[in-house]
Amino acid sequence: MLENKDQSRTSLEELGEFGLIDHLTEHFKISQKTTVKGIGDDAAVLSFPDTHMVVTTDLLIEGVHFDLSYVPLKHLGYKAVMVNLSDVYAMNATASQITVSIAVSNRFPLEALEDLYAGIQAACINYKVDLVGGDTTSSTTGLVISVTAIGQASGDTIVGRDTAKSGDLVVVTGDIGAAYMGLQILEREKAVFKVNPNNQPDLEQYAYIVERQLKPEARKDVVNLLASLEVLPTAMIDISDGLSSEILHICKNSNVGCNLYEEKIPLDPQVISTCEEFGLDSTTIALSGGEDYELLFTIAQTDYPKIKANPNFTIVGHITDQGEGAHLITRANTKIPLVARGWNALNSD
Ligand code: ADP
Ligand code: MG
Repeated sequence: MLENKDQSRTSLEELGEFGLIDHLTEHFKISQKTTVKGIGDDAAVLSFPDTHMVVTTDLLIEGVHFDLSYVPLKHLGYKAVMVNLSDVYAMNATASQITVSIAVSNRFPLEALEDLYAGIQAACINYKVDLVGGDTTSSTTGLVISVTAIGQASGDTIVGRDTAKSGDLVVVTGDIGAAYMGLQILEREKAVFKVNPNNQPDLEQYAYIVERQLKPEARKDVVNLLASLEVLPTAMIDISDGLSSEILHICKNSNVGCNLYEEKIPLDPQVISTCEEFGLDSTTIALSGGEDYELLFTIAQTDYPKIKANPNFTIVGHITDQGEGAHLITRANTKIPLVARGWNALNSD
């Protein structure tokens, strides 16, 4: 359906491991002054004088985290970097370097890896991070990608999950639930394609949600915006597994409770209409769908005037004492306990 129709195929064996690494990484440029030495030695050398370093890593496995029948490799490369940068930004830090490790079977031609690295490079350029190393090995089955992101922040501006306070406001950036509904569209089109390979999907009316699934953007802009508004969140996390599970992480780690308001949850109209089409409840999708890579944070009430008029932010609730538990207040004004159900749990329903 969306797979690469390019006919040219160069076998990986022709290049060998070192030829492959050179070929894939030759167009990457170093732009960060904290990168002393990048690719090409036994290890990269980085220098972060007087700051705290932030390090995060993620592992993506074909068939578990992605399906190459509808995920173009260029998008996969981009998304693999976004997933990691999002974790750096969720610490209120800036990202400066990544490493990329891949395990790949011989069924992939060189051109496929070129697509993957084109996506990685686009992410590096857009987010101003240097690719400084990685590892390359063979796999007997599918593709495995592991990205590590490195960033920095001064110690007193780093924001964890464990410092939310009773009375704080709960804020979500952008809108949520779209990436999960984009996945539903792609899964449906895959099923249609299996029955009729000549069917060309018309994804026009789902463009936003499909893009949110295939090409998420990490919220670097929010970290910069918060700094310019002089707002230091009291706690922050990125929304990779759905609003419910993320707010519960903050509540558990901070020993607090929360009330979220159903009517406040920011949803794109395409999420609402696609949920109607699939017979799904859009609030459930926002709470339990995943992969939006928006930020969820808490702020002191005194910071409310600084963020209230900003279209990037929606206040969805407030933090309470731990004893009150974590609840959703529905439109009908009933109070239901929040449960952690990531998108994997939702998928296996
Ligand atoms: P070593 O044998 O010391 O592990 P490698 O031959 O694996 O070194 O790697 C050589 C250089 O290329 C190192 O700088 C390494 O970080 C980099 N590198 C290897 N694989 C990748 C990759 N997939 N992407 C980016 N850089 C890589
Ligand atoms: Mg190596």
